[in-house]
Amino acid sequence: MNDVDRGPDSLAPFAAHDASSRGRRYPEPPPEFRTEFQRDRDRIIHSNAFRRLAYKTQVFVNHEGDLYRTRVTHSIEVAQIARSIARALRLNEALVEAISLAHDLGHTPFGHAGQDALNACMREYGGFEHNLQSLRVVDQLEERYAEFPGLNLTFECREGILKHCSVRNARELGDVGERFLKRHQPSLEAQIANLADEIAYNNHDVDDGLRAGLIDVNGLRDVRLFRRQLDKVTSQYPGLGERRLVHEVTRRMINYVVVDLIRTTQARLEQAAPRSIDDVRQHGKPLVGMSDEVRAEHLELKAFLNEHVYRHYRVLRMTTKARRVITQLFEAFMNDVHLMPPEHRNTARDGEANSDTRRARAVADYIAGMTDRYAILEHRRIFDAGERV
Ligand code: MG
Repeated sequence: MNDVDRGPDSLAPFAAHDASSRGRRYPEPPPEFRTEFQRDRDRIIHSNAFRRLAYKTQVFVNHEGDLYRTRVTHSIEVAQIARSIARALRLNEALVEAISLAHDLGHTPFGHAGQDALNACMREYGGFEHNLQSLRVVDQLEERYAEFPGLNLTFECREGILKHCSVRNARELGDVGERFLKRHQPSLEAQIANLADEIAYNNHDVDDGLRAGLIDVNGLRDVRLFRRQLDKVTSQYPGLGERRLVHEVTRRMINYVVVDLIRTTQARLEQAAPRSIDDVRQHGKPLVGMSDEVRAEHLELKAFLNEHVYRHYRVLRMTTKARRVITQLFEAFMNDVHLMPPEHRNTARDGEANSDTRRARAVADYIAGMTDRYAILEHRRIFDAGERV
């Protein structure tokens, strides 16, 4: 059942409701058979940027194997976790799903290595931040509707996509930037999507790290979150094969953290007793969260992955290559915009004021939109004399 089936009355008063939405930038008639937030989710699924996530790296580059997470499978896992939490707390499931599916739309090719490289290239031109870029994709870059640029999503969905933001950028962003200046919180749905992202990658990177042979079950015993579930599974099912063992442990880890998060948040909501989404926004700190104990364990796992997976020499080799591809593409296009396809070249050449900044932003938009394999191919087309152009 979705929230149309259940009716808006089943949502908690502090959830995001259609009736209290701050609306869309370009007003539109309400949808006939969907809620406003279901329409947001559907627009995201049909966008070009969403399909490209299938060929963008999470940690492992797309060509390394078919079983690793990509940005699209990561986003779907985030949405699954976020929906379970939202439902338990009587919050808006369609909105958490929309935010989860959109949260990485602005990600560059090659994961965090790509984002860092593009940010370094853009240093003199206002920087590059994938979170801000996700908002740029849904507000401006998608070209699908006759009446408006972008996807014209609700304020609540855009507020959820913009997880963090510098004060300088916040001033330029208008309505969605305001909360960073006033130190307000986003909706509970946005807070959930944010934590569901962390829970999803922490757990799936254990699975992917094991599959790639970067870490092993024995090493993971140092991590309390993993060890507790591992001990339970091995005593209940001695001699279980490794694949099933790993899955049993990771699914229990997710459940353990999610259940703690729901209970902790329920208690906080009871205490704070917000009566509306605006009460949530004006609360001094986020209301969604894990208990201190589980948060510490969650961070311990994150630190373990940082040391043993994200900084493994095989991942670092990939990172170095990615940085080179992104940096060289950026330099080539900045030096000569005519090397870009016409639609990107024309944006880069439009307008007289701040022409370097404008050109750099057009180049960054083009590069950020690339999939891993497109970036590798484009790099070859430009630098390899033997490659077709
Ligand atoms: Mg993510």
